[in-house]
Amino acid sequence: MPDIRFNCPMCNQQLEAPGEYADQVIECPACQKPITVPGVEPVEQAEPLKPAEQAVSGNKCPECGGTLEEGVVLCIKCGFHLKLGKKIATDFK
Ligand SMILES: [Zn+2]
Ligand SMILES: [Zn+2]
Repeated sequence: MPDIRFNCPMCNQQLEAPGEYADQVIECPACQKPITVPGVEPVEQAEPLKPAEQAVSGNKCPECGGTLEEGVVLCIKCGFHLKLGKKIATDFK
């Protein structure tokens, strides 16, 4: 069990208690008041996992270096198709 770090609610002294003391009343070593050790880790909430951000925005065409908008797979400047990895057309009208 990890140590519990918390501040004394009475004197605000920073304290550390072994994990077994969670939810138990102890005497604050600083102010000698009875205080309750908080349960384990109310602080760290797991952030919802974001989908892995791919370097999609600000894509560059590997062929002509032109900027491609997000989600665009076909460069309209040179006709390079990013998914196919080759030019599929060279003549845009
Ligand atoms: Zn205290
Ligand atoms: Zn291009």
